[in-house]
Amino acid sequence: MHLANKKRVVVSGAGGFIGHHLVNRLKHEGHWVRGVDIKLPEYEDTAADEFEMLDLRRYKNALAATHGNIDQVYNLAADMGGIGYITASHAGISRNNILINAHMLEGSRINGVGCFLFSSSACVYAQYKQRNPDVASLREEDAYPADPEPGYGWEKLFTEQLCHYYLQDFGLETRVVRFHNVYGPLGTYEGGKEKAPAAISRKVALAKDGGEIEVWGDGEQTRSFMYVDDCVEGLIRLMASDYRESLNLGTDELITINGLVNMVSSIAGKRLTLRHDLAKPQGVRGRNSDNTRINRVLGWEPVTRLEVGMELTYKWIEDELRKAGRLEEAKVVMR
Ligand code: NAD
Repeated sequence: MHLANKKRVVVSGAGGFIGHHLVNRLKHEGHWVRGVDIKLPEYEDTAADEFEMLDLRRYKNALAATHGNIDQVYNLAADMGGIGYITASHAGISRNNILINAHMLEGSRINGVGCFLFSSSACVYAQYKQRNPDVASLREEDAYPADPEPGYGWEKLFTEQLCHYYLQDFGLETRVVRFHNVYGPLGTYEGGKEKAPAAISRKVALAKDGGEIEVWGDGEQTRSFMYVDDCVEGLIRLMASDYRESLNLGTDELITINGLVNMVSSIAGKRLTLRHDLAKPQGVRGRNSDNTRINRVLGWEPVTRLEVGMELTYKWIEDELRKAGRLEEAKVVMR
């Protein structure tokens, strides 16, 4: 890489799923990278040049995280998890994320960071537009009039605004991306913070052929899912662009949760019965990404078909469970 193109980049949340993949990609492209998190990546060593263990809820840590002529900050650190996790603690999650985001923005301003990217979420979209499984795809303007998900969604929506205020008042360059359900290898697959694709893959891997697995809700809720390589590609393209408004980053390949379970079962070569637990949280009824704007702004949209990405994800989770001796245990228990 030409020296002039080599950037100094900070990735917060670099011990997490998307952050870790992003660090790998940035290093592959030859940039200097500082990763920041309260934990190391779980499944692989970090490729970052520096990895700082810092709790970004504290302002002085956010200042330290963004010091030293940084060209780009990808702010991915957040207290988050799947639907069970984000619906269980509205106050704690909102408070933690408000502190992280406000301090990272201020730290970036004080340290003269070139560009700050905030990872928002499809959870900002108005709930009244997502009551039907045949939901119309969500365009960026559908976040208003505001009715986001309690806690996590409200915080994301407000931080989107805070990014705009920092741009208007202080001239800090900001980018805002709204992810729609990201999945892939090296992501959490158990413990309560995992998302549907990873949770389903784990349950299918541990079930015996002809057995039964539990699905949250009636399974007719719909979503679209984006493979993590596409997510990273979109992040890099958005950072390189001059687009300052909020932008969807997701696929528009809609599927029901039951459909996803059947897809994973067939990847695993198992026939399984679904047991629906209606008491469990299922989130909005239907949600899809409208990709008109990303196509216009970046001339690109995520490309990986769900079946292709899920096959890679399932194989990775199955392999992890095998290495941990869990598939053997499952056979013994079910015998
Ligand atoms: P993740 O939980 O794997 O990563 C987030 C990381 O932030 C974790 O490693 C965590 O330890 C770190 N973190 C939490 N509190 C911290 C603190 N106080 N100080 C420093 N680090 C802290 O999640 P992810 O899937 O990689 O998500 C990355 C970003 O994308 C988050 O902002 C998330 O809200 C957003 N997002 C993700 C999805 C998705 O489907 N994965 C969807 C919408 C939005």
